[in-house]
Amino acid sequence: MRFLLAMAAALTVVAGTTRAGEVRIVAAENFYGGIAQAIGGNDVEVTSILSNPNQDPHEFTTSASTAKAVADADIVIYSGIDYDPWVDKLLGTGGKPDRTVICVASLIGAKPGDNPHIWYDPRTMPTLADKLVTVLTQRNPAKQFFYQVNAGEFKKAMDPVLVNIARLRASFQGTAVTATEPVFGYMADALGLKMLNYDFQVKIMNDTEPGAAETAAFEQSLRSKTAKMLFYNSQVTDPTTERLKGIARDSGIPVIGVTETQPPEYKSYTDWMQAELKAVEKGMKGAD
Ligand SMILES: [Zn+2]
Repeated sequence: MRFLLAMAAALTVVAGTTRAGEVRIVAAENFYGGIAQAIGGNDVEVTSILSNPNQDPHEFTTSASTAKAVADADIVIYSGIDYDPWVDKLLGTGGKPDRTVICVASLIGAKPGDNPHIWYDPRTMPTLADKLVTVLTQRNPAKQFFYQVNAGEFKKAMDPVLVNIARLRASFQGTAVTATEPVFGYMADALGLKMLNYDFQVKIMNDTEPGAAETAAFEQSLRSKTAKMLFYNSQVTDPTTERLKGIARDSGIPVIGVTETQPPEYKSYTDWMQAELKAVEKGMKGAD
């Protein structure tokens, strides 16, 4: 199965033959690729590297097809701050002389050591949309208005997400929650939630074993129902996270499934975020 998925990914990467003037964009993560497609329309051919919902992006390793995609790209978009260090390596091996590289972390001023899941910050994608307008306009000045309109459409689609965040924040601000891994962290901040067991989550993210005391404190936050909700990252799992999910269920704490990459059932970033916010609201209403 893994082999088949790898084959499918490889085919996606090599399949495109660009038309004259078409801009090749490689996005390290599929949610950035989705925005690039939305802004660039038919002027761009987008390849997203990380899109497999069953794969841990923190453990991704590159293949020859990934290297070729990056080498052939006109624009490379990646998250940065060690979320996708393989991109830095591939960028160092050459590429097109006029290539544009967009490091989203640099764009929004995130620093090494910050929670790297920056696309969960509701401010990130609108900033990237503006940057894409600038970068695409440099390559095709006649299309500036087209890119601006597309960016405007994206921001319009973000509006209900922001309204939803404000509404949920008004109701649930200050509620203590926890998570197996920090993927939802920035959205939890935007919602005003109080995140417990952060150091534990970072260790799971980095695939290091949390300490016994940290694990005990995590379990206690579930058993005592101090945490009102558990965010469960289904892409970064191990026996410890599985066990914590079981404890949450046994303790009657809502478990909210969250993912690193944009799942294929959502056609846009905003649909994906709305679905996760809906799950949060449902969980909060079910929590006591
Ligand atoms: Zn993660």
